[in-house]
Amino acid sequence: MHVVVIGCGIVGAAIAYELSQIKGLQVTVIDQKPPAQASTGAALGVLMGIISHKLKGKAWRIRQTSIATYEEWIPKLEAVSGRKIPFNRQGILSLCLAEDDLTGWENLAATRLAQGWQLEVWDKSQLQQACPQINIEKFVGAVYSPQDRQLDPITLTLALVDAAIVNGVSFKFGVEVLGINLIPSFSGDSEGEKIEIETSNAKITADKTIIAAGLGSTPLTEQLQQKVDIRPVLGQAIHFHVGHALGNPEFQPALTGNDVHIVPCGAGIVPTTDYWVGATVEFPNKVGNPLPPDAELLETVKQQAISYCPELAQGTITRTWLGLRPRPENRPAPIIEKLPGFSNILLATGHYRNGVLLAPATAIAIREMIVSN
Ligand SMILES: Cc1cc2nc3c(=O)[nH]c(=O)nc-3n(C[C@H](O)[C@H](O)[C@H](O)COP(=O)(O)OP(=O)(O)OC[C@H]3O[C@@H](n4cnc5c(N)ncnc54)[C@H](O)[C@@H]3O)c2cc1C
Repeated sequence: MHVVVIGCGIVGAAIAYELSQIKGLQVTVIDQKPPAQASTGAALGVLMGIISHKLKGKAWRIRQTSIATYEEWIPKLEAVSGRKIPFNRQGILSLCLAEDDLTGWENLAATRLAQGWQLEVWDKSQLQQACPQINIEKFVGAVYSPQDRQLDPITLTLALVDAAIVNGVSFKFGVEVLGINLIPSFSGDSEGEKIEIETSNAKITADKTIIAAGLGSTPLTEQLQQKVDIRPVLGQAIHFHVGHALGNPEFQPALTGNDVHIVPCGAGIVPTTDYWVGATVEFPNKVGNPLPPDAELLETVKQQAISYCPELAQGTITRTWLGLRPRPENRPAPIIEKLPGFSNILLATGHYRNGVLLAPATAIAIREMIVSN
């Protein structure tokens, strides 16, 4: 069976790696750009799984699966690709403001314990002791999630591509998919139908195709008369060079407070000297086109981060960047299912703010759909 994956962001690359482990399956990945250029190239790689407020059902299951899978994937991918993947094993620390519901966090910690995970609710003095860089006046405490992680999304995507290549997957970069057509089977049975993928290069025939094209999924599905409406939500972020670790160099979790993240760079690979700060959340206009990046919103994020860790103000901003998150319109993220009306076209798209977190569970779900058919 030949499976074509359209898109090589974190989601397409994770699917390619997962499918590359199925014996006898031929897998081709097509992307109009090099890997990890679109939304994935802008992501902060914060994996808010255990600390998320999802309690049950699919939303919790895919988070739990992803967090567990990354622990297996990272060492394997490092070994196969020879790349060192920045993977912060010191957890995520969520800073609690006076208005935050600490009882709610205590309840979540109890639920997580029953589910086999850890979550600690810290008071002010515990927070101050563990993280002296924090402006303690602002916070009543914190929630520490030792099993959540942060990673570098670009290095991870490149490592997934390397590992998939080793397992025989073929990648076509710089090739745009222009259209998807069904070739009817002689029996008229839709299960036997082949797919013809029209690209800027050549036509490719597949038995199944997976649309993992982020924002590019909308025009591809529209052309099949089954429009999946995915809209861009812009995010801006900042790279700070501080020159040394803020607080205790031995304890550098990803920090988050009121939706602003402060992320140590190069975790586990190099001593911390730099931090990413982000990201803004900027919705598109009514027809779904992104508005220009809002400098004021970025400044607010920056000032918030400095109010959490005042020493950041002494750092130098070496880069700011932006990206577009693929958000499904009028339905929850992500979309992992068959394209309605098509037995051999699968969707793995619309991951909005959690594509890096949910890539492993998405890849596993797609693998199950391919194997069970
Ligand atoms: C500022 C910012 C911060 C973020 N932080 C986090 C975070 O901390 N944690 C987290 O989990 N997520 C985060 N995200 C969200 C995350 O980046 C996305 O959910 C994720 O990258 C989506 O991955 P993807 O592979 O589906 O899409 P993309 O990375 O957008 O990849 C889609 C690919 O499809 C290709 N493509 C599209 N159309 C075609 C076509 N017709 N032919 C060929 N190729 C095509 C594109 O070139 C692209 O490479 C953040 C996003 C932003 C912008």
